[in-house]
Amino acid sequence: MSLLKVTDLGKSFGGNRAVDGVSFEVAAGELLALIGPNGAGKSTTFNMVNGQLRADAGSITLDGIELIGRRPRDIWHRGVGRTFQIAETFASLTVVENVQMALISADAKLYSLWKRAADHRRGEALALLAQVGMQAQADRPCSALAYGDVKRVELAIAMANAPKLLLMDEPTAGMAPQERNALMALTKRLVVERGMAVLFTEHSMDVVFVYADRMIVLARGRLIAAGKPAEIRDHPKVQEVYFGSGKTFEKDKKAATA
Ligand code: ADP
Ligand code: MG
Repeated sequence: MSLLKVTDLGKSFGGNRAVDGVSFEVAAGELLALIGPNGAGKSTTFNMVNGQLRADAGSITLDGIELIGRRPRDIWHRGVGRTFQIAETFASLTVVENVQMALISADAKLYSLWKRAADHRRGEALALLAQVGMQAQADRPCSALAYGDVKRVELAIAMANAPKLLLMDEPTAGMAPQERNALMALTKRLVVERGMAVLFTEHSMDVVFVYADRMIVLARGRLIAAGKPAEIRDHPKVQEVYFGSGKTFEKDKKAATA
């Protein structure tokens, strides 16, 4: 049985059907990419799954339990994690302190305890940082890190709650190609090692084909294709949406390098 099951999901803003009759599933241990051009409805879909936005229509179940109508915090407790950008106020904390904060927050302990609990769960935080290759930089302030390394720490923070399903909205935005690849490879490793499911959105195509187990494609709120990367690459509707009719990914690649 699938971990996440989305059925006939819909959301309108005024007269604009941002998400319209979208259905898909994500299994444990699967990396599913949700792709589509800007304005396709990716973030809206994403925010309905995590509870930030309430769906107008359809159903979203995790392990068979309906999520629509639940608060974001409840959905998070049930095992739907998401990556957040490290807030500026926390940039002065060290790498390991940021992950400790996330672990403490997952325990529902209070931030006011923080000062008395500076070593609280440090070992666990270091173990999470080791998983993302950031243990050596644990005691540096986050503000001193390279952008790609900040993204690794954000991933460790999201893992603190041991999510069954991790949501990532354009995780590689603003990254250089090499950093994008490294982050996706790391995410893929966490999927395999932890049997975690990941749903990530992406508007560009390059990184996605290599790391996604499966892909779904949105255009103007509707799901136009679903399948393995190779199937999506050759899908006429997808090529039309991204490149206009008559072009293919191959031709586009050649055009880009010519
Ligand atoms: P994507 O993430 O694929 O770029 P979005 O889900 O952000 O697309 O947006 C889908 C559509 O919904 C767009 O037409 C966008 O303008 C609209 N939209 C998104 N959020 C809101 C909002 N809070 N209020 C009104 N319209 C919105
Ligand atoms: Mg978006």
